Amino acid sequence: MYLPKKINPWQLASEQRQLVGEVTLNVMTRLAVLNRIEGSATVALVAGVDNNGVCYIKGEIKADIALDCQRCFGLVHLSLVAKVALGLIHCEAEAKKLPDRYEPLLVSGGGITITDLVEDELLLALPQIPSHLDLLECESNGYVEFYKKDILIPYEAYLQPFAALISIKDTQPID
Ligand SMILES: [Zn+2]
Repeated sequence: MYLPKKINPWQLASEQRQLVGEVTLNVMTRLAVLNRIEGSATVALVAGVDNNGVCYIKGEIKADIALDCQRCFGLVHLSLVAKVALGLIHCEAEAKKLPDRYEPLLVSGGGITITDLVEDELLLALPQIPSHLDLLECESNGYVEFYKKDILIPYEAYLQPFAALISIKDTQPID
């Protein structure tokens, strides 16, 4: 089931509605800059008003995406799970009053685009430095880890500067 394009979070919260369904990923241009995306995100959210009177949207958004590994530049396939806990606010000033368990969601006008909401949450859930969990996968793409390179390096890295010192000393005039 595909979700409506636009939602009114305030109304959803007051009516304690659920948002359950799919949102197509290939329209999310900000997410597409960094990632290879296709298919859709699975959205399972519920809106309501908590005991403190805060209107919220919470739940989970899941999506399968592929990113460039920052070690080997091969593709890393990730099953992203974004945990969502949004507190609705009318203006920036209200963000300070929100309990810590909520991230603020600014909804000043009537509604927001569901794609923007889902895309924001997925961007926040992305790893900062994506890489293969298993180093063997990186190595199969031609990556050599630094410590392995180091085994080959010491001879040049340490002996040469030392050799240079000796040669300077040798050429210095002796009083
Ligand atoms: Zn890798």
